[in-house]
Amino acid sequence: MPVATMKALRKMRPQRGAQLESVPIPTPGPTEVLVRVRAASICGTDLHIYGWDRWSASRIHPPLTFGHEFCGTVDKVGSEVTSVKPGDFVSAEMHVNCGHCRPCRMGQAHVCQDVKIIGIDADGCFAEFVIIPIRNIWKIDPAIPEHYAAILDPLGNAVHTVLAGEIAALNVVVTGAGPIGLMAIAVARACGSAMIFATEVNPHRRELAKKMGADDALDPNQGDVVARVLEATDGAGVDVLLEMSGNPTAIHQGFQMLRPGGRASLLGIPKDPVTFDLVNDVIFKGVTVQGIYGRKMFETWVQMTELLKHGRLNLEPLFKERLPLEKFADAFSLLESGEAGKILFYPNGSQK
Ligand code: NAD
Ligand code: ZN
Repeated sequence: MPVATMKALRKMRPQRGAQLESVPIPTPGPTEVLVRVRAASICGTDLHIYGWDRWSASRIHPPLTFGHEFCGTVDKVGSEVTSVKPGDFVSAEMHVNCGHCRPCRMGQAHVCQDVKIIGIDADGCFAEFVIIPIRNIWKIDPAIPEHYAAILDPLGNAVHTVLAGEIAALNVVVTGAGPIGLMAIAVARACGSAMIFATEVNPHRRELAKKMGADDALDPNQGDVVARVLEATDGAGVDVLLEMSGNPTAIHQGFQMLRPGGRASLLGIPKDPVTFDLVNDVIFKGVTVQGIYGRKMFETWVQMTELLKHGRLNLEPLFKERLPLEKFADAFSLLESGEAGKILFYPNGSQK
């Protein structure tokens, strides 16, 4: 019998670009699920893989189907799977934790020491089908729209960061209004923050920051943004810094905007080591600094489901482009231009 095949966007060689290939549809193992991908979204990480930077060269081993943000319907389940059935609408946590290391055993699976990421270490979702271990499957509440279900992975990064400490009635700055920073603004607004400031170098994204609920979106290249935030907070500074740029200047400014005793939650990933005024920005100020990685398994998923199913988040300004997988080159160049929002691929066609 001929092997059934599917389309997959694959990194075939250690260089810039990707190829649409025809590959066999994988078969789920006993504890795995085969999901028919409905919508998949492109992450900044995919752009790094596509462009083939230093990080990709050290981490990715072609050939690989990439992509890790998606939703779809269960197509087939392994022999031991009982919690979902064909036809169920699902997404997935793509960080597959080992379950055995010390952080996993201590309830901190999001910082597993032996994590494998689907779409980075194993074939991902830029394909008609993807294999997911059953314990990583997340059933989608029927009240959640399909295009929101496709971006639960980055929304989870935003929710994890915002809810990593107190947020209600507090003043917040989000440094970097990329997709995750923009979602963090909406989440902070929904969770009752007082004033929300954003800093962002891209004018299009500053506009989006306001649409997502920021009170002010500041351009770090125009005037003294630290002074403006201090002035707007009666000299106190903000209570919470959500760092979502990975840019050393933004990180530095964020800490200067943060009040003594405040919380700094750092999600953005700088390319190189960053120098830091530990004495004045952290120690003497007595601030709490947190590294934020991934999503808590599965507390973050529960939290974002609640926010979404009760209509607390309006993420519509993020969506514009919906493309078939064949248009991947256009999608990546749009994203590289910094003008796109969350681009959705429809590997099985028929986008709405
Ligand atoms: P992104 O690169 O689209 O967003 C970063 C934003 O910061 C951009 O809009 C950029 O214009 C802006 N920026 C650059 N320099 C700035 C400056 N000096 N001041 C203010 N803003 C500036 O990325 P994203 O997808 O929104 O992700 C945000 C960050 O989080 C990235 O660094 C990404 O690598 C990182 N990330 C971390 C995790 C994690 O688990 N820790 C997960 C996903 C993404
Ligand atoms: Zn582990």
